[in-house]
Amino acid sequence: MTTKRKRQIIIIACAISCIWIFSAAKTKVKLNPVPRKVIFMIGDGMGLAQISGAMSLYQGVNAFERFSHIGLSRTHSADDYVTDSGAGATAFSIGKRTYNNAIGVDKDSVPHPTLFELVKQKRSWSTGVAVTSSIVHATPASFYAHVKHRRKYEEIAEHMLKGNCDVAIGGGYKFFEQRKDKRSILSELRQLGYTTSTDSLTWRSIDASKMVYLHAYDGLPSVLNGRKDFLTKATKLAINNLSKNDKGFFLMVEGSQIDWGGHEMNYDYMQSELWDFNETINAVLDYAKKQGDVLVIVTADHETGGLALAENESNRKTFTPKYTYNEHTGVMVPVFAYGPGADRFSGVYDNTALFDKLADLLHLK
Ligand code: MG
Ligand code: ZN
Repeated sequence: MTTKRKRQIIIIACAISCIWIFSAAKTKVKLNPVPRKVIFMIGDGMGLAQISGAMSLYQGVNAFERFSHIGLSRTHSADDYVTDSGAGATAFSIGKRTYNNAIGVDKDSVPHPTLFELVKQKRSWSTGVAVTSSIVHATPASFYAHVKHRRKYEEIAEHMLKGNCDVAIGGGYKFFEQRKDKRSILSELRQLGYTTSTDSLTWRSIDASKMVYLHAYDGLPSVLNGRKDFLTKATKLAINNLSKNDKGFFLMVEGSQIDWGGHEMNYDYMQSELWDFNETINAVLDYAKKQGDVLVIVTADHETGGLALAENESNRKTFTPKYTYNEHTGVMVPVFAYGPGADRFSGVYDNTALFDKLADLLHLK
């Protein structure tokens, strides 16, 4: 073989391998890796005005700026332009528009499997909730229970016995232990292998793959009333215990009281709750960045209070917060996504699409 011929062969071989490497890289980009953990975070009542106002005055790291993909979610329920938290969370958990006050059931009151049930059945994952309301409140309940009305708190507590939620941290002691039927749901849960604890705000780290930790009689105190960093601690504890399942987990974290500040039209209440939620999101993102296989979604079920950031005539560098009224509104809410599959969450879509996108990404259907 001549030197010229050898050179030609080498050049052709290089060209072929370059094309192969390039197409392999292209294939790699196309593949959407399946996350092994999903942390779905709901700021109840957290619209764009709440985030804009609170974060513009925040001294620390703005967690919302750490996300790679942003979308907008339409929040209407089946029977009302303005949703409540039951229909709002049920849209996420079962992927169906339903009537206000529904928990895990469709508009005809028919139960459908929730994301918690589906990840258990199809992927053998563990599931959990960490919230600052009671764990039987509408938002967390929609992920593990199926009841016709959100106010049936004692009935919702009984749904914990079905085993669809492995780790639950929040409040709501009275619905488990001071019931009309005198049952002790916590002792029934212990018989099913759950570790339970009802220390008030004295933090106790529990090492157990199945646990129910109720820190308050009903909802937890607000940050303004001394809750401190409960939500971040609860979230870290939930992650720690859910990680015992090496197949994966789905954790729902709720900044429950951003909404309650809105109902009270109390801007400082709302802002302190949003700052607290921001710190929890930062902790979750730090964890997700280390792990690499965690999809983090942050969104809201609806906006509360029709908050406006109006001009402040005495100090034009800041604003005057003005609530329109003390209920929810029908404005779209933002969706922030980070991690494997995050690109699917860009765009404008119905709240039920969050279920569809997760079910598709995790092959749950
Ligand atoms: Mg809620
Ligand atoms: Zn509300």
